[in-house]
Amino acid sequence: MTAAAPGLRVRDITVRFAGLVALDSVDLTVEPGSIHALIGPNGAGKSTCFNVLSGIHRPEHGSVRLDGTELTSLAPHRIAALGMARTFQNIVMTSGTVADNLLLGRHGHSRAGFAATALRLPHAVREQRAQLERAREIAELTGLGTHFRTPVDLLPYGDRKRVELARALCLEPRMLLLDEPVAGMNAAERARTAGTIGELRTRFGLTVVLVEHDMGLVMRLADEVTVLDFGRRIAGGTPAQVRQDPEVRRAYLGA
Ligand code: ADP
Ligand code: MG
Repeated sequence: MTAAAPGLRVRDITVRFAGLVALDSVDLTVEPGSIHALIGPNGAGKSTCFNVLSGIHRPEHGSVRLDGTELTSLAPHRIAALGMARTFQNIVMTSGTVADNLLLGRHGHSRAGFAATALRLPHAVREQRAQLERAREIAELTGLGTHFRTPVDLLPYGDRKRVELARALCLEPRMLLLDEPVAGMNAAERARTAGTIGELRTRFGLTVVLVEHDMGLVMRLADEVTVLDFGRRIAGGTPAQVRQDPEVRRAYLGA
């Protein structure tokens, strides 16, 4: 599956909000099958960058290419259909069980029409069973197997964050954008989620872009790091290189 992993090439992206330059001519190259961390202080433009990649914001200029396909003029659902899934910094979830949330995430993979499903026609019933089976596999993969029928409102915070990750995986993406996937988790929950993210790459060849403040986790997981500060790319390289960079230490690590 690694051969099919997509690469991402972002060039000269600028986004402005009423005079505030949120992203200032940003470049970002993500190698196929890699884990790439996007770091920087609050307000640096990390989430805005994800909004550009996933089609929520259209940049003032610049280009975003996924395997050579230009994304900047595509609607979010078209970008998702190309295999790009994301999670949001804040939990966005419907009520209902883990299974309900994951089945919503699989919407794009359902072929049986609404009427066929409502009438319980045999092909629709078979299809529903297959969807449920796949959702259950993804729940197992993300450590939510025992909570499959639990209402999400009753889950501890760390598990609710994992539902977000699981729901993004339900799109069966080739590239995954994770916006602070372990924020607010305790140490054990962080370690577990980090393990899952690593596994996604090794087992399924997913390309991952990760926004994260936990530098220990970034150092452990990421192949490469890009550092933003006030909307500008101030550094990039391996985690070890970035950690040594004087400008990064000043801007971000407070050293
Ligand atoms: P980060 O994710 O790195 O913390 P953001 O991308 O959320 O940073 O924000 C970058 C800057 O853009 C911040 O100054 C933020 O206040 C501003 N910003 C983000 N989204 C909007 C928006 N929809 N409207 C106006 N300003 C925004
Ligand atoms: Mg953010």
